[in-house]
Amino acid sequence: MKDYYKILGIEQGASKDDIKKAFRKLAAQYHPDKKTGDESKFKEVSEAYAVLGDEKKRTEYDNYGRAFGGNNAGAGGFDWSNMSGFAQGGAQFDFGDIFENFGDIFGGFGRPRARRGNDISIDLELSLEEAVFGIERVVVLAKNSVCDTCKGSGGEPNTEMTACATCNGQGRLRETRSSMLGSFTTVRECSACLGRGQVPKEKCKQCHGHGVLKKSEEIAIKVPAGIENGEVIRMTGRGEAIQGGQTGDLYIKLHVRAERHIRRNGSDLVRDLSIKLTDALLGATYQVETLDGPIDINVPIGVKQGESLRIKGKGVPTGRGNARGDFLVKIDIALPQKLSRKAQKLVEELREEGI
Ligand SMILES: [Zn+2]
Ligand SMILES: [Zn+2]
Repeated sequence: MKDYYKILGIEQGASKDDIKKAFRKLAAQYHPDKKTGDESKFKEVSEAYAVLGDEKKRTEYDNYGRAFGGNNAGAGGFDWSNMSGFAQGGAQFDFGDIFENFGDIFGGFGRPRARRGNDISIDLELSLEEAVFGIERVVVLAKNSVCDTCKGSGGEPNTEMTACATCNGQGRLRETRSSMLGSFTTVRECSACLGRGQVPKEKCKQCHGHGVLKKSEEIAIKVPAGIENGEVIRMTGRGEAIQGGQTGDLYIKLHVRAERHIRRNGSDLVRDLSIKLTDALLGATYQVETLDGPIDINVPIGVKQGESLRIKGKGVPTGRGNARGDFLVKIDIALPQKLSRKAQKLVEELREEGI
């Protein structure tokens, strides 16, 4: 995964201003027109800024940082279309005072615009047992999916392709604008043909030429064993489909329900066991309910208040082979609140024994 903070040479808590300053400095240094230019570095810092300079994207990146980029990093997962959007808007991206000549910055890259469907985030609630042992859950999501009839092309099966009239088959549209900083040209993708330069002669009747349509899809989510509350699973390509682009991702945030008796401590599971005073003194066998069912444990003679008895290998899977943490039984010795006359007499005898 790419560390956007590192790329811009800033701390994670950097302010908006610091981010902007760092970006300006690096962008000016690496701009392809400069002697010190480096197109790939320039793209990298631009990509970092497009994410960190945008509050919403930054929050997403901070939250899902681990999953960000990943498979997409090399395949154009970053949406350059937003970049040209910024450039045209001017206000947010503010290239104006960095480059004397705005020029054809983005057109010059020769990089195909990477269209990408929206990511979807859902929440999934699990019992402690499901989180510990893992489970497969099927969810039904109503989302934009690739049209089965045209396989996403938007054309009737076997229809001919014809040159796009909007862009004269170029796939791109050039726009020259004048501004205070001089005139600059932006190249944007033709929205009529999505940059392909060609459109189907006859539109797909199923999806009306969109290539995608809203439908319910069953998705099997495999939750691995030992997952913790708040962890996020990412399923690449299970988000919303988009015509002529890459399908977005599905993020599943896991919420583990608190159990009344059993709690988790790292790879161990812990539960309290209340025992009688006499059992603490004389030892006894107790049956303990674990996530693996009831297990008998021996309470040794002279067990201490708060002591933990260990049942090996009945805790949370650690992810290394079949290894599991332990199940700890924390002893709570119940002292009698009231003694019968007989019991009192016996305890007094104990006292005489020096106990
Ligand atoms: Zn279709
Ligand atoms: Zn076109």
